[in-house]
Amino acid sequence: MTKRLPAILWYRQDLRVEDHPALNAAAADGRPVVAVYVLDDTSPGTWAMGGAARWWLHHSLKSLDAGLRARGGRLVLRRGAAAIVLPALAHEIGATEVHAGRMHEPWARESAAVVATALEGVGAGLELHRTSTLFDLNLVRTKTGGVYGVYTPFARTARTFTPDPLVAAPEHLTGPHVPSDSLADFDLLPTEPDWSVGFDWQVGEEAAHTRLDAFLDRAVNGYDTTRNLPGQPGTSMVSPHLHWGELSPGQVWHTATKAAKATGQGLEVYLSEILWREFSAYLLWHHPHLPEQPLRPEFARLPVRHDPADLRAWKAGLTGVPIVDAGMRQLRQLGWMHNRVRMIAASFLVKQLLLPWQEGSAFFWDRLVDADLASNSASWQWIAGCGTDNSPFFRVFNPVTQGEKFDPDGAYVRRWVPELVGLPNAVLHQPWAAPADVLKRAGVKLGGSYPAPLVELGPARQRALDAFKVLRAA
Ligand code: FAD
Repeated sequence: MTKRLPAILWYRQDLRVEDHPALNAAAADGRPVVAVYVLDDTSPGTWAMGGAARWWLHHSLKSLDAGLRARGGRLVLRRGAAAIVLPALAHEIGATEVHAGRMHEPWARESAAVVATALEGVGAGLELHRTSTLFDLNLVRTKTGGVYGVYTPFARTARTFTPDPLVAAPEHLTGPHVPSDSLADFDLLPTEPDWSVGFDWQVGEEAAHTRLDAFLDRAVNGYDTTRNLPGQPGTSMVSPHLHWGELSPGQVWHTATKAAKATGQGLEVYLSEILWREFSAYLLWHHPHLPEQPLRPEFARLPVRHDPADLRAWKAGLTGVPIVDAGMRQLRQLGWMHNRVRMIAASFLVKQLLLPWQEGSAFFWDRLVDADLASNSASWQWIAGCGTDNSPFFRVFNPVTQGEKFDPDGAYVRRWVPELVGLPNAVLHQPWAAPADVLKRAGVKLGGSYPAPLVELGPARQRALDAFKVLRAA
């Protein structure tokens, strides 16, 4: 009997074993497979992983290795440019096939093209599979074959397609023993000071399913309303699992639609959020400059401010606007922020502070465990009003009314801004409006124990609208 040549599975942002078409293709008919993750710090350029993402990756790789070992395989780690590492590995083990998930980030597309060419040099080929999105990103088209720029019609058309059925992982993996770098040598974890001490996350494929199932049992039914309340556990918090591919969007979709307690509006709205993720990937796929340049080109001329002190205060959660500060502190401590508060904090940066959205998105990129080039860039453009969707620049979130509406009992602000804990609800979201004796009783000294607001909200709003007028007149 002839010995079968092993194939390579190149793991990228799809760190799971189940529902992984590339793994199944590599291990087809029991063929030996070498599963490898290549830490390539150079190809992403500006979009090199942020600190929080690296933290997640460390734990995710560990968990993936355990998942592969449970099936008789293991994860090989290599560091360097994928276009050098993969051909060398293929040559080393005599592989002629490399299978991988398709990524939609511009740098990753380029990297895959370079890898494919380099593999040809050693007589091997690269085959990409869909592992990160529900649909092929070229599938959803307007009636005239164009690309959607607005979410609602995109989602309407996307809903006419059915996500593929899930594929079960190979029961048993075999493969030659190949030396691996050590995970510790990847240096993914922070050194002193360790800012990750508050990262209260269980990472990996199994934890991802546990979290999703708990949400579907606990909260999906009321999701259409509770998803907006940052003080309640009303969302699924699966975004980092989805970003890293510990969960596939198909798994989320099929599990949610089959869950016993998932019905009605809660389920519908949840599925629509999964499609927002899909739409973001679609936008990035069709507009590779999305992370850097406004989709509405005229916005490049918006007269923004450059104010390092204001930017620093925003990053530190010291703007003096409680709901914004609460969000920024949640981000620093957990590496994650509630969606409603992401919108409020981002809007405050772009509108009231009139700082460039790219400065905010770069900070989120560094701090989010779910930092995702598509979702982060598309969301920042949406908030800044310079995306193709219909969120106009002149719609300015008022952080006080947003706070009062979505954090009415102040649970969220009190959790993340403990120096305001003693303020009554009536002034919690605008401490500057509190009478002196109320502040005193609560032990709050504006400009002392808690900052005075960086800007007066009314005039700051007007400044943003004036800047927008300049843009329109130009
Ligand atoms: P749930 O409410 O439980 O939703 C389920 C899933 O749907 C999420 O996990 C996510 O994958 C997807 N989803 C939900 N809302 C959105 C949305 N508006 N856009 C795209 N996908 C969505 N999401 C990221 O995954 N990575 C980012 O880097 C990111 N940056 C953002 C930056 C800004 C300024 C804003 C306003 C939003 C950003 N989002 C980002 C979208 C959204 O805030 C998060 O996906 C969501 O908060 C994750 O929490 P969850 O898993 O509990 O979401």
